Amino acid sequence: MKDPRIWGLKKSPWVYHVAAASCNNCDIEILELLTPRYDVERFGVVLVGSPRHADALLVTGVLNRKSLPRVLEVYEQTPKPCLVIGIGTCTCGKQIFRNSYNAVGPYDKHLPIHALVPGCPPKPEAMILGVVKALSKL
Ligand code: SF4
Repeated sequence: MKDPRIWGLKKSPWVYHVAAASCNNCDIEILELLTPRYDVERFGVVLVGSPRHADALLVTGVLNRKSLPRVLEVYEQTPKPCLVIGIGTCTCGKQIFRNSYNAVGPYDKHLPIHALVPGCPPKPEAMILGVVKALSKL
């Protein structure tokens, strides 16, 4: 029998945005997804205001010593199964801040990552593709 939560997650993933330490460009591109031009709500993707209501986390920015505990706390608060999608080159581990004194390494060292979307910032179309790829892993 199908797990109703997985079925619901695939049909209408509710997303919470976590800005770890981004420069805000990726965050602005995520908001672009909600504008009438891309209108991801027609696919059932809804941006929610609390991780407790989310099925997926969109993480942006560099993980550093200050942001890591906050990101892990948000992940703990999100009901499982929870998809984690890294948005932007900063989440891929090859960004310009990788040798910074307080960078703590790539996301997949600390969290289960289901999809990474490269780009600085990535286009909204690439983010939609990243969400679809992550959903296909369920
Ligand atoms: S990937 Fe680029 S645009 Fe996105 S947060 Fe990092 S530096 Fe900014």
